[in-house]
Amino acid sequence: MFDLIIRKANLPDGRTGVDIAVKGAKIAAVEPQIDSPARAEIDATGRLVTPPFVDPHFHMDATLSLGLPRMNVSGTLLEGISLWGELRPLLTKEALVERALRYCDLAVSQGLLFIRSHVDTSDPRLVTVEAMIEVREKVKPYIDLQLVAFPQDGYYRAENGVGSLNRALDMGIDIVGGIPHFERTMDDGRASVEALCRIAADRGLPVDMHCDETDDPMSRHIETLAAQTVRFGLQGRVAGSHLTSMHSMDNYYVSKLIPLMAEAKINVIPNPLINIMLQGRHDSYPKRRGLTRVRELMDAGLNVSFGHDCVMDPWYSMGSGDMLEVGHMAIHVAQMAGLEDKKKIFDAITVNSAKTMGLEGYGLEKGCNADFAILQAADPLEALRLKPTRLGVIRRGKVIARSMPCIAELSLDGRPARIDSGRDYVPLS
Ligand SMILES: [Zn+2]
Repeated sequence: MFDLIIRKANLPDGRTGVDIAVKGAKIAAVEPQIDSPARAEIDATGRLVTPPFVDPHFHMDATLSLGLPRMNVSGTLLEGISLWGELRPLLTKEALVERALRYCDLAVSQGLLFIRSHVDTSDPRLVTVEAMIEVREKVKPYIDLQLVAFPQDGYYRAENGVGSLNRALDMGIDIVGGIPHFERTMDDGRASVEALCRIAADRGLPVDMHCDETDDPMSRHIETLAAQTVRFGLQGRVAGSHLTSMHSMDNYYVSKLIPLMAEAKINVIPNPLINIMLQGRHDSYPKRRGLTRVRELMDAGLNVSFGHDCVMDPWYSMGSGDMLEVGHMAIHVAQMAGLEDKKKIFDAITVNSAKTMGLEGYGLEKGCNADFAILQAADPLEALRLKPTRLGVIRRGKVIARSMPCIAELSLDGRPARIDSGRDYVPLS
């Protein structure tokens, strides 16, 4: 007797009509037809059932603060940072917790159950850190939240940067962050990468740095990050977030850099929505896209996963907690529209991101955690195209969110009365 069987599901790997049986919090079987009974069944005929979405780069302490205390007029990264600096002294723990919990509600409804969030450690009050640690505990039953100690104003550049970051780690933050391109000089940036990797090695923690989030082709901190990763034996435990300067780098230099990153097993985290919005702002025309070299990094065997980064905060006024929106933008900006390309993009918001975050028990195999999203789409390609309704979201075998399918009723002579965009609106041969 199983607790739950999801019937006739389409899986991301292309299998169709598969039954998934759940016992307790785990997947007990994944087979073409399971004859045993279950306490509950969900008919997923023709629907994609995927492991939940994973966001490896977010700012939970800033989300839903749009307009506080004012809007970002220039729309640039640097005005966003200074605007956040205006808001920071006004932040209260209660408001931070409330905004984060509301975002997590939205995330669950979108089938997004794993989030890595950077937490600003620049204000020595560390109210952001206290708040996000509380949120991490509160959402634990439904979202795995990893926290990165992020010195937004610079590890060396901010007055209390060094002490505050280390105190945040002492308080229980999971991961060492950094922002080398925002330090006063290239040399300070290089020194910060070395110091932060040393801290990670000493404390046995992973590293995830905002790295080279600039259009300056000479911003090459990723080279130092890869080299220090090898030096401290941190291979596979280090992520380089953004890496937008790679877009503008000299090709010959990149031909040496990418193999070095592969040697260090750097996890690459571009943020397509934010990169296309914030980069190239000093360009006239032609304007650079500013997204890092996604296809080339994937081809070199690096683990590339996409982050949402921001939702309605000083840097980005848009966003909906939907990782399919992130993947949708990546397809366009990275110009990865082929069938195999799109499968890789879907991986970048699911399995690759799970690898970046070091998640255990993630996937659709027997023995994995019974965590799923059921989509009103037939396959990953359709999911990326439609950003469809999440019909069901299941965590450790329990349904934690449901939505009604989106069906349009038509009043057209001689035409269908209803359209299910996920099933009916497909290319015709
Ligand atoms: Zn970020």
